[in-house]
Amino acid sequence: MDTITTQSPPRWRTVLDRLRNWSLANSPWLVHYNSGSCNGCDIEILATLTPRYDLERLGVKLQGSPRHADVLVCTGPVTRQSRDRLRRIYDQMPEPKFVVAVGACGISGGAFRGCYNILGGVDEVIPVDVYVPGCAPRPEAIIQGVAVLLKKLQPDRAAEIDRLLVEAGATGAALEEEVSDEPNAEPLGAR
Ligand code: SF4
Repeated sequence: MDTITTQSPPRWRTVLDRLRNWSLANSPWLVHYNSGSCNGCDIEILATLTPRYDLERLGVKLQGSPRHADVLVCTGPVTRQSRDRLRRIYDQMPEPKFVVAVGACGISGGAFRGCYNILGGVDEVIPVDVYVPGCAPRPEAIIQGVAVLLKKLQPDRAAEIDRLLVEAGATGAALEEEVSDEPNAEPLGAR
C-alpha cells in the first residue's frame, strides 16, 4: 500500500537548490529563438551582445542548448510551422525557466498579425515573464528587459543592476515605461 510521507527534503538537496538559484540569478544563460521574425529583432539582440552594449556586464551568457538555458529570448510572431518547435524548446529547458518576448511581433504578432499562418504573440504558446516592445526594440530596451527579469529574481541586487544599467546607457523613464511584465505595448510599437 502506498504511504504518504511528510519528510522534508534532504539537506544536500536544499543546499543544491540554493546554489542553483544563486547562480541562476547572478549569471542567467540565455537561449535565443526566432519563431517567425523578419530578423530585425534578432539583429538588435546581436547588437546587445556585442562589446558596444555588452549585455554580459549583467552576468548574462548566450549559449546554444535549451537544456542548459535559464531564459528563452524569443523574437517574432509565432507561425504555425514554429509553434511545436517553440513548445519543444521551452519544454527542454530545466526549471526554473523564464521567457522574454522581444519586439511587437513577439508580443502580439505585430506587423504579421492576422496573416493566415500566424498564431499571434509568444504567450499564445508559452508563458511570458517580460515583454520588450518596439519594432525593432533598441538594444537599451532589450537590456532593460533582462534587467527587469534579474531584479525579479534577485531583488536585493537591484541597486547593483541599476548601476550597471547606467553604465550601459540603458536607463530613462521612457525605457522603464516601455519594458513590462504585462503585454501592454502597442502591436506596432515604434522605435
Ligand atoms: S517587431 Fe519589427 S523588427 Fe521585430 S520581427 Fe516584428 S517586424 Fe521584424
